[in-house]
Amino acid sequence: MLLSTGSRVPRRLKAVLLASAVSVGLVAASAPPEPLGVGDRLFPHLGNPGYDVSSYDLAFTYSGDNSTPLRAVTTIDAWTTQKLDRLNLDFAHGKVDSVEVDGSPAAFTTVGEDLVITPKNPLPRSSWTRITVRHTSDPVPGKNRDGGWVRTEDGLVLANQADAAHLVFPCNDHPSDKAMFTIRVTTPEGYTAVANGLPTAVDRSGGTTTWTYRTRHPMATELTQISIGRSTVLHRTGPQDLPVRDVVPAGDRAALEPWLARTPAQIAWMESKVGPYPFETYGVLVASADTGFQLETQTLSLFEKRLFTDDAYPEWYVESIMVHELSHQWFGDSVSPRTWSDLWLSEGHATWYEALYAEEKANRSLEARMKAAYSASDRWREAGGPPGTPKPPKPGQKTGIFRPNVYDGAALVLYALRQEIGKQDFERLERTWVRSHRDGTATTADFQRLASQIAGRDLSGFFKAWLYGEKTPPMPGHPDWKSVPPVKTAQK
Ligand SMILES: [Zn+2]
Repeated sequence: MLLSTGSRVPRRLKAVLLASAVSVGLVAASAPPEPLGVGDRLFPHLGNPGYDVSSYDLAFTYSGDNSTPLRAVTTIDAWTTQKLDRLNLDFAHGKVDSVEVDGSPAAFTTVGEDLVITPKNPLPRSSWTRITVRHTSDPVPGKNRDGGWVRTEDGLVLANQADAAHLVFPCNDHPSDKAMFTIRVTTPEGYTAVANGLPTAVDRSGGTTTWTYRTRHPMATELTQISIGRSTVLHRTGPQDLPVRDVVPAGDRAALEPWLARTPAQIAWMESKVGPYPFETYGVLVASADTGFQLETQTLSLFEKRLFTDDAYPEWYVESIMVHELSHQWFGDSVSPRTWSDLWLSEGHATWYEALYAEEKANRSLEARMKAAYSASDRWREAGGPPGTPKPPKPGQKTGIFRPNVYDGAALVLYALRQEIGKQDFERLERTWVRSHRDGTATTADFQRLASQIAGRDLSGFFKAWLYGEKTPPMPGHPDWKSVPPVKTAQK
């Protein structure tokens, strides 16, 4: 994700729900249903224990009115990792009509933002189970709860990061549980639906069309994209015959084309830096909506239209933002953060390639940008926490966990690392990282381990200081760089 400069940021913030510790483990049927989580430090109630989702089949029916709840059927195939008397899914902001587990009706109730399902018979450990939920999905945001569906001038798009996929469909809403997706959308005539992956079918009957898409790689729920609108889909070819498809409002096609035409060369540039593009397709989704951010939804990044149509943005800036979202396809999408505290690995790398592209293509000095980041770094750490331990989202703060500490503050860590181990090892690290964790999830400890291995020495002290220190360590090679201390506020 990247917040637009100078805009109000309508991000939903996670209310700090229950202060109590999250219980993880076998749930006795007699205990009252409660919201569970996988123990994420920043979002304690995201995800659920006891199973691992292998695939989602999402079917939505759109009425043509983006204020009316969509009808939906979500089918989940999962592998149980423990015996389950009950099973939780994350789901809020829709009405559940029925739940079936392995073909039999199951009891269900909603607690917090969890849908708690009680199957007729307990699910044994190490077995496949299929859960089918018939529900609605409300595109109108709740109070203090942005995210999920975004209403555009001509339909809907998705923006689920970090914790809003479960406002759209029932799921195990945590990036540690990636799965395959099939997405079907039925629309009235005149609308086009596009989702992650490649199309597998278009079925027209009785005035409606059902558009089916399937991913060829596992995906985190936060990266789901569904675009419904009066859209044009533009096709072009990227490096190695990669199919590139852009989705734009039909009336804006000509104005956007000069920007869209740059994608293949941007992909080639990223491939020259880190290796082959990791997915089956890529493209730019342009939404007529005031989102306040761009988002790296897998294989189809979401951009707000004004980034391309507002003359206030210089050309080099717009292109570098396109590269930011593109580079997330490697960093964040193909290699997903295991926990939300690993967010710096996604945003730091996306910011790094954004800045490197601006340097190589438009002479915007990376070193000057990093020196400015160094100067602000102590204040960013004070406000948002060190890059490796970001502070939880705060009620009333729309940016959530997406603060400067994990953007330029984390790119600064990568710059320091390159200073420390040299350009050659740094570039080898980057290529090896995306290759060895492709289609998986990875942690900060994994990155430290690989960096140490490639540099041929233990870098744990370096990372400890740079990722977890309250103060920014001295910059290798630039002992003169200074960080401005945070303004001390009077203590009560
Ligand atoms: Zn980003």
